[in-house]
Amino acid sequence: MKHVLAALSVAVLVVSCATPSREQSLVDRAVNAMGGAERIAAIKTVAVKANLKQWEPEQSDVPGGEPRFANEASIEVVQDRGRRASRTDWVKNFAYPAPRTFTYSEIVTPQAGYVLGVDSNGRNAQSMKMSPPAHSMSGLRLATTLRESRRNSQTALLSQMRASPDKVQPASDIGGHPAVSFDGFIVAFDPLTGLPSRVRTLDYDNIQGDVTYDLLLSDWREFDGVKIAMKRRTELNGRLVADTTFTEVRINPAIEASRFEVPAALSADAARPAVRNIPYQWVIRRQFIGTYLDSDHAAYDTRGPGLRLQEVAPGVHQVQGGSHNSLVVEMSDHLIVMDAPTTDAQSLWLVGQTRARFPGKPIRALVLTHHHMDHAGGLRGILAEGGMLVVGQGAGAHFRRVLAAPMTRNFDLPARSFHMTPILEVPESHVMTDSSGRQVIVYVMDNPHAKGMLMGWIPHAKLGFVTDVWTPGPPLPAKPNPGLASVVNTVKRAGLDPERFAGGHGTVADYQTLVKLVGQ
Ligand SMILES: [Zn+2]
Repeated sequence: MKHVLAALSVAVLVVSCATPSREQSLVDRAVNAMGGAERIAAIKTVAVKANLKQWEPEQSDVPGGEPRFANEASIEVVQDRGRRASRTDWVKNFAYPAPRTFTYSEIVTPQAGYVLGVDSNGRNAQSMKMSPPAHSMSGLRLATTLRESRRNSQTALLSQMRASPDKVQPASDIGGHPAVSFDGFIVAFDPLTGLPSRVRTLDYDNIQGDVTYDLLLSDWREFDGVKIAMKRRTELNGRLVADTTFTEVRINPAIEASRFEVPAALSADAARPAVRNIPYQWVIRRQFIGTYLDSDHAAYDTRGPGLRLQEVAPGVHQVQGGSHNSLVVEMSDHLIVMDAPTTDAQSLWLVGQTRARFPGKPIRALVLTHHHMDHAGGLRGILAEGGMLVVGQGAGAHFRRVLAAPMTRNFDLPARSFHMTPILEVPESHVMTDSSGRQVIVYVMDNPHAKGMLMGWIPHAKLGFVTDVWTPGPPLPAKPNPGLASVVNTVKRAGLDPERFAGGHGTVADYQTLVKLVGQ
C-alpha cells in the first residue's frame, strides 16, 4: 500500500510539472492573444497618443453624490523598454477646483522621476526655486507612477508574469472573468478572447476605506502584429473615475535619448521609489484635480519646516505649515477639533501634539466643515480618540457609510470598528459649551463649494473658521467671488461680530478687509 501511494504521489508530481496550472494557462493564452511572446519581446519602444477625462468622487458637491468632473487632457507617451525610461507630455485642462491648463512632462528613468513644468497648484519648494519650474518626484509619486505604468503596459506586465510563473497565484473570478494575482495586481481575462480584461489593485482611500482600483480594457486593435487596448476605463470601487481613449499607437518608433534628459540640479538628490506605506489613491487623485503636493509626506512639503500647532487666540490653536489645517479649541476638560485633513498620518501627529500640550483633555468632538477628501480624510485618526463627529445637514448618512466601510488597508491605523461613533448632523446651527461657559458654535453655510458646509465660531476669541470658501492670510483677490460672499452672508445671518478668521487653508486674517471687498 505504501509503495502504491508513493508511486501515486510521484505520478501526481510528474503530471503537475508537465501540465501548466490554470493560472499559467490564462497567462499563456493572453500572451498569445496579444500577438505571442516573440512579437511582444521584439517591442523595444512604444509611442502612444491618448485623450482622457477624469472625475473625483470625493470632491462632489453633495456628500456621497455624483463625482466631480475634474479635467480633460491629452497625453503623448514614449517608452523605451531597453532604457527602462518613459516620458509623458501632458496638456491638462481642468474644470475643478478652478478652470486652468497645466502643460508639463513626466520623465521616469531607472534612477528617478521628474516633472518639467507646473503640474499643480500645490507646488513644492523645489518647483518654486527652479527656473523654468521643475522638480524631482517624491518617492511616493515615483512608486505610484511606476505602478500605474505597469498597469497600463499589458504586454510588458503579461511578459513578466510569463517569465515568473511561481509569482502568478490563483485569484477569485471577477464578473465571470477568470483571474490571477501577480506582484500586487489581480488580472482578469476575457473568457472568449483570452485577452486581459481588467487589471485590479486593492487600494486604500482615506474616505472610502478599502477600495478596488481597476483598469478595464476594451477595443483591442492590432499594431505590427501586437494587440493593444484602445479604450481604458478606470473604476474606483466600480465607479468611473477616468476614461481614456488611445488615438495613435506606434511600435518601435525611433526615440531620441534627449527626450529622457533632465536638468542636473534635479537628478542630484532625486528620491528612490518608496517601498511601503504608499497612499496610492491620494497621490493619483490629487493629480486628477491638479492640487497634488509632490512630497514624501501627504500633509506637508518634506523640503520645508513641517507641521506646527500655533496658538492663534487664547486657547485656540491652528495646525500650520502643511497644505491643509485643523483648528483645536481648548475647553475646560476636553478639546474640539475642526477639520481632519489629508490622511490619518496628519491626524496621528495632531493627536500626539494635543496629548503633550493638553494632558488629560481628550478630543470630544471633530467638526468637519465639509466632506471633501482633503479636509476629511484624517477623520478616523481623530475619531479613534472616541469623540463625536459633527457634520452639516445632509452629510450624516454619507459619514455613517464612510465609518462602516472596512479599513484593513489603512497603514496609519490598526483596523477597528467606528460603528459606535456618534454622528451629529447640524440642521442650522449647534452650540457646544463647557463647564466654564466657553463655546464653540457651528453654522450651516449657504455656499457655492459643497452642500452642508459648516462655519466655525469661537465667541470668546471673536474668531471664525472657514475652509475652501476663503483662505485667510494670502492677499484677497481684486474682486469678490461667491465663496467670499458666503462667509460675509453667514456672519450677517447669524448676527456674529468676528474680528478675525482662521482657515482650513492659509493662516489667520482680519475680517474687516473681507467685509470691505465683498461690500464693493
Ligand atoms: Zn473642498
